[in-house]
Amino acid sequence: MIDRCGRNIDYLRISVTDRCNLRCIYCMPEEGVQHVERSLILQEEEILRICRVMAELGIRKIKLTGGEPLVRPGMPRLVEKLKNMPGIEKVTLTTNGVLLKDQMRDFAGAGLDGLNISLDSLDADCSRKITRRDELGRTFGGIEEALKYPEISLKINCVPLGIPEQDLCRVAFLAQDHKVHVRFIEMMPIGIGKEFRGVSEEELLGILGKKLPRFSVYEGEPLGNGPCHYYEVEGFSGKIGFISAVSHKFCGECNRIRLTSQGFLKTCLQYAAGRDLRAVIRGGGSDEELKAVILEALSEKPDGHIFGGNLEKQKEDKTEKLCMSQIGG
Ligand code: SAM
Ligand code: SF4
Repeated sequence: MIDRCGRNIDYLRISVTDRCNLRCIYCMPEEGVQHVERSLILQEEEILRICRVMAELGIRKIKLTGGEPLVRPGMPRLVEKLKNMPGIEKVTLTTNGVLLKDQMRDFAGAGLDGLNISLDSLDADCSRKITRRDELGRTFGGIEEALKYPEISLKINCVPLGIPEQDLCRVAFLAQDHKVHVRFIEMMPIGIGKEFRGVSEEELLGILGKKLPRFSVYEGEPLGNGPCHYYEVEGFSGKIGFISAVSHKFCGECNRIRLTSQGFLKTCLQYAAGRDLRAVIRGGGSDEELKAVILEALSEKPDGHIFGGNLEKQKEDKTEKLCMSQIGG
């Protein structure tokens, strides 16, 4: 699907649930999370139907996300069905890893192509402070299990918060001994993330540069579906990546759209723009009608976000009011 800015949209991120077993301070509130009634969440058949129609329109890669996707039962089965869908080339998953260990074998059997595991700190106290839960051990267990399946590419995602206890160098060193890429995601001003300053890529390079061996820009084959740029570090098995939506805006190359767990098709992370696909499906719409609504949404995909930009403009326009856990990141 080519949008009005000439961008080839071939990547769909699907949030399969708004629920999560962690409460990361920059993503979800501690108390009073209002969960969506289950009947309003897309059922497996509905997700599959939307994906089939999307594949006919040109979507080739699918990422399953949440909330925490692994709290939804039947995820390996969903992966398998998506992998068998004509047109779909890659299915990947992003998870906090807490429930991964027991499901890993089934995901491998289902043909999962890649896994992103979120891990903001290797320090137990710091992790507890960030996630408001004591689950670092189970996340490690998930990572260890995932490393047993080298055919599934593994990436660690870390959001720097600007607190020294997070010890970002220690997180980066995971890529020394293990074949994992460690990626630092700049804090985005979405939902509760607006209350955090985060750490820019330039600051981060300074921090990592003090402890990591020499690194240089990686110029090889692309390592994923998105805007991450990578560095090679001398003696490291994996690479170090940066996803810097604020300091290095990449909207010109945006290749993605997002489906919320309630079936709302979002065309930009920052804006509420999109269309309610659940309404089309549950209203008895045909595949052709569904396609028309998807293309209509795409025709309005914003040129780009204005993170860190004109705050007055952000207020006056239709920016997103949902939390990241409701969108899927
Ligand atoms: N629960 C899963 C996980 O944590 O990987 C999937 C959903 S989570 C919303 C997806 C990713 O978004 C995580 O890596 C998380 O750290 C990141 N994230 C959440 N809020 C963010 C924000 N305001 N800015 C940047 N990344 C954010
Ligand atoms: Fe849950 Fe992921 Fe948000 Fe953390 S970042 S609260 S694990 S959805």
